Amino acid sequence: MDRLNTLLEHNRAFVESREYEQYKTDKFPGKGLAILACMDARLVELLPKAMGLKNGDAKLIKNAGALITHPWGSVMRSLIVAVYELRAEEICVVAHRDCGMRAIDPNTILASAQERGISEDTIATLRAAGIDLDTWLKGFDNVSDSVRHTVQTIRNHPLIPKDVPVHGMVIHPSTGRLEVIVNGYGDAEEVAPAA
Ligand SMILES: [Zn+2]
Repeated sequence: MDRLNTLLEHNRAFVESREYEQYKTDKFPGKGLAILACMDARLVELLPKAMGLKNGDAKLIKNAGALITHPWGSVMRSLIVAVYELRAEEICVVAHRDCGMRAIDPNTILASAQERGISEDTIATLRAAGIDLDTWLKGFDNVSDSVRHTVQTIRNHPLIPKDVPVHGMVIHPSTGRLEVIVNGYGDAEEVAPAA
């Protein structure tokens, strides 16, 4: 059976057996948290368990690297909606050790794209149109620095109120241990050294 049908078959059984009932909640985060985390597959269950979160406890935004690439992009907009419309009172940025976004090479990605049928012309056209693919596809060199930068981007955003603490953390993808990089209750105080 293909992936979609496997998924749909599971879904029919899930709904029929009313397994959803244990997850009933509402759209407001019970713990008042909005979390920006990495999309890493190892964190699917580990991150909420390690943070003590159950369904309904937090607004969870995920992308590659727990990054904000643009102050007016969809991640920042999601955080703003979480704060003003959905009663998020604190924000956590949670990146992780051994992240695929550490030191990724835009040239490698573009070479893979070409192997998969994206023409050199297309890439040249995008560059000619002013799209800076090398910056856009770049990850980060140091996860702690990246978390600090992301926290600063949120904290300094003109539409984020000053009374919203913004915390920065790094989670270990096998143990779930959290390191605090920025404690949002202090004045951007550094709790853990860069590693
Ligand atoms: Zn990652």
